[in-house]
Amino acid sequence: MRHRRGIDLAPRGDTAESASTLETLPEWYVLVAMCGKCRHQAPVDRRQIARTRGVGTSLLAIAGMLKCRRCGNATGNELLLGKLPRD
Ligand SMILES: [Zn+2]
Repeated sequence: MRHRRGIDLAPRGDTAESASTLETLPEWYVLVAMCGKCRHQAPVDRRQIARTRGVGTSLLAIAGMLKCRRCGNATGNELLLGKLPRD
């Protein structure tokens, strides 16, 4: 899956990083939430979560916290990992 600006997105289940926490996930990964109902996508501010929930918060825990801003759905939402181009 291609995202604009060339970010590669992968469903968390397909990546080894799914067991990661904010602390162990490399900086060049961005998190994108996708609604399981309306497919709305929104970037997740990992630094803000690290501040409010702690850097030990796992990606799976974050996925469970997601709520769609468009339709309000809170179940079946996916957390996608995007890799920023490294330069
Ligand atoms: Zn939605």
